[in-house]
Amino acid sequence: MSMNRRAALRALCSTAAYTMVLGPGVSSRSRADESRIKPGASSALIIVDVQNCFVQGGTLAVAHGEDVVSVINGLAPAFQNVILTQDWHPPGHTSFASSHPGKQPFDTITLPYGNQVLWPDHCVQGTPDAALDTDLHVPEAQLVLRKGFHKDIDSYSAFREADHRTPTGLGAYLKERGIKTLFVCGLATDFCVAWTALDARSLGFDTYVIEDACRGIDLKGSLAAAWKKMRSHGVKRIQSANIATDSTDSAR
Ligand SMILES: [Zn+2]
Repeated sequence: MSMNRRAALRALCSTAAYTMVLGPGVSSRSRADESRIKPGASSALIIVDVQNCFVQGGTLAVAHGEDVVSVINGLAPAFQNVILTQDWHPPGHTSFASSHPGKQPFDTITLPYGNQVLWPDHCVQGTPDAALDTDLHVPEAQLVLRKGFHKDIDSYSAFREADHRTPTGLGAYLKERGIKTLFVCGLATDFCVAWTALDARSLGFDTYVIEDACRGIDLKGSLAAAWKKMRSHGVKRIQSANIATDSTDSAR
């Protein structure tokens, strides 16, 4: 980020008109910088599905998905707790169009648990496509949670699979560790990020989505619909500049 851009962001964030509602587990930094959030011991960053398959050159590339990597690399050190997720499908997974004769990627079908968008084969377990993005550098991460490994159930959310019943275990993990506030980022905004944020709210977590650390697929208006639904469920929409990091400290 250029110094000019940093300066502009600082100016934006310090205007009197700009206010940030802080939830439990986060605190403001100082009177001069009240709007910037410093994540505390009860906050966690959830980095959703930043994998080779969802960036340029991958089997299900999200437009400009690779752009989130540098943003997330800069954010992660600001958090004491960092969780990564990985979409992790067996071959022949039910979410693959190739598993349903006559169907094409992005068709929608009805499965026992509801509507399912069909995708190109992606994130097959153990393949380079399913690996975390090569440029993602988050050594702080304490847990890599894999999801979507049940052959007959998709899993957008990091908490519950697409049947809305089968837990991944993440909710219990976070609660046992005393985490109360979640900051969600990654790919894609309107699917795995949104479903993760919505489930986080339903499990009682104070939840933020960091917009510029996400990119969406936007299938038939799904991006706007996802933001609307997240807002209605109390998910807070912020930008990476709203979080205090070492680089923003040193730029001061
Ligand atoms: Zn998937």
